Amino acid sequence: MLQHTLAELSALLLARKISSEELLRAYIDRNETLGRELNCFISFIPELALEQARRADKLLQTGEASALAGIPIGHKDIFCTEGIKTSCASRILDNFIAPYNATVVERLNKAGMVTLAKTNMDEFAMGSSNETSFYGASLNPWDKQRVPGGSSGGSASAVAARLLPAATGTDTGGSIRQPAAFCGISGLKPTYGRVSRYGMIAFASSLDQGGTLTRDARDSAMLLGEMAGFDPLDSTSVDHPVDDYTGALDKPIEGLRVGLPKQFFNSKLDSGIADRIDDAIKELEKAGARIFDIELPNTHLSIPAYYVISPAECSSNLERYDGVRFGYRCENPVDLSDLYCRSREEGFGKEVKRRIMIGTYVLSSGYYDAYYLKAQKVRRLIRDDFQQAFSQVDVILGPTTPSTAFKLNENMDDPLNMYLSDIFTVSVNLAGLPAMSIPVGFSDSLPVGMQLIGNYFDESRLLNLAHQYQTVTDWHEHTAEGFEL
Ligand code: GLN
Repeated sequence: MLQHTLAELSALLLARKISSEELLRAYIDRNETLGRELNCFISFIPELALEQARRADKLLQTGEASALAGIPIGHKDIFCTEGIKTSCASRILDNFIAPYNATVVERLNKAGMVTLAKTNMDEFAMGSSNETSFYGASLNPWDKQRVPGGSSGGSASAVAARLLPAATGTDTGGSIRQPAAFCGISGLKPTYGRVSRYGMIAFASSLDQGGTLTRDARDSAMLLGEMAGFDPLDSTSVDHPVDDYTGALDKPIEGLRVGLPKQFFNSKLDSGIADRIDDAIKELEKAGARIFDIELPNTHLSIPAYYVISPAECSSNLERYDGVRFGYRCENPVDLSDLYCRSREEGFGKEVKRRIMIGTYVLSSGYYDAYYLKAQKVRRLIRDDFQQAFSQVDVILGPTTPSTAFKLNENMDDPLNMYLSDIFTVSVNLAGLPAMSIPVGFSDSLPVGMQLIGNYFDESRLLNLAHQYQTVTDWHEHTAEGFEL
């Protein structure tokens, strides 16, 4: 049963060949035997899931269930889940039980999906390796000495190890695409505003976007169809029609114009990755795609701009954790100032504090113009580069990451190097565009991800291209040794 994708499970459940409860129990068993070692989950909630599965089974019997009814899913622990611990992988929220559901969770619940776990992540989604989690890093199933990527590392590792058929994630600078690439699965970050941020704990509000981590593009299309759409509870949610993502998958890609940005194929790119991307480009050409060289001249400025803008927003968003209303509170504070200071000192980890310090600095009077305003101007230039490129091509293609999954602890004492692992992904968030990472093979036995970037609200084109590639290749079907089905 566990070998099936969401699309296949949906068909089996709707035809009542399997039940949701039976499917869920199979996942619970697999997690018991194989799950623990990867540390993918912050909360594993089989009892609540069983209740949801039984409800889904009743719905399935009526013949009125939606396509996703009865299918288990994991939510990144950044999404508020009513009555369930929502920690954001931080000590400061270790005792926080969310009083309401994020819109993403609410929509998937309504569709009848079954929440089996809250997945591990970098603390407040700050990181590229999952190592900043208060609960310890989750591991990469392809090599347990290596990181699964971050910050949605638990979601990616769990889907890759087939501990869950699909999971949600969030992407502020690459946190869906980079772990998807490191773990050999498909990850989709939608256009900013496509998926509601309501109930998604904020890191950098102008960049954060929820999305999907799945085995293949068809599954992403199914999930996005339920997650996307206007939400009056999120003022940045966009009232734009939701496409029929699954309906668009089978369109031929003949004539599609694909641009390769010169700046993404430089000498810093791992040669094994470059080779796999070349192979994938050849496959797309065979299917009729037309390849063009393009320029994204300000790519080198994206990391510096991101590391001014995202800490600035984070320093403001994280002000609310003060030890007063909810979350961790230090013991025996002597006065109010001691309560604030020690609760935050003890509650936040090192990387989060680093970001708050940088953010406070770049926003402080005298530095605001020099750093924050300047970074906003650079952001506009990066956005303009993409708009220029999209006047020439339909989709932009390149590597997702400069290297494959790195070793645990390899970058923990070198934040700059850690930040550089998002060199190809952050510009997309600065511009607010949709992008996907799909597996295109292996380099030294580790998965390689290819990134597809689309114009605003063009998710269906990305999914279509990814699906067409996945119909002629089988990289998305490989599983790591020890996790075969
Ligand atoms: N690695 C980047 C950071 O640490 C991006 C994280 C993310 O997308 N949430 O900020």
